[in-house]
Amino acid sequence: MGKEEGDMDMEIIRNILTQLKHMKFRGRIAPVFYNEPTLDSRLEKIISEMRGMLPRATIFLYTNGSLATADLFETLSAAGVDVFVVSQYEKNVPRDGARILSLMRELSPRTRKKVRYRVLHDVDILSNRGGLVTVTHHQKKKRCFRASTNCVIDFKGNVLLCCDDFTSHYILGNIHKESLEMIWNSKQAREIRKKLRKGIFENEMCRNCVGQ
Ligand code: SF4
Repeated sequence: MGKEEGDMDMEIIRNILTQLKHMKFRGRIAPVFYNEPTLDSRLEKIISEMRGMLPRATIFLYTNGSLATADLFETLSAAGVDVFVVSQYEKNVPRDGARILSLMRELSPRTRKKVRYRVLHDVDILSNRGGLVTVTHHQKKKRCFRASTNCVIDFKGNVLLCCDDFTSHYILGNIHKESLEMIWNSKQAREIRKKLRKGIFENEMCRNCVGQ
């Protein structure tokens, strides 16, 4: 499928956080894009810097829970995570389910309140990742608002149209060359988002995604 892999440099992370700080960002932010964030040994530091730079943002941590321990969740909670979303994708009861539920009982009430545990079955409506995967219940859409509400940046600093762009094919700009604000407000980005909101799907990924 040709996906490049790597860790986002701290320099890029700080660049993004500095720009968001100047915007007084108070939306949601999550260190995730087809990765398992708990594998990154810098995670506590990254979350701490996010919290320090963006005191009004809501920090989400999406994880599959494989490496989750009560200590790790307490540490990340103290560093600044507001919401932990533990997602497991198995047909029946996940093998790891009992462990996650027991881990939640070990957490302090403050941290436990932040954890959302979800089990996604194949009957749930899932994205087909722009046509890359087959799903049982494909959600067909007439219009798309996701590109208007989410800003996705890959590990190289490329700003992408959408989180479904697994291979970073639809690049709106790169934060090494332009500011996030310039990329988000560029004519090209505004036009494509407007078309998606009206139900005009011009690229293959979007057509596959909406079932056209
Ligand atoms: S239609 Fe395009 S922008 Fe919208 S969710 Fe699907 S792939 Fe992403």
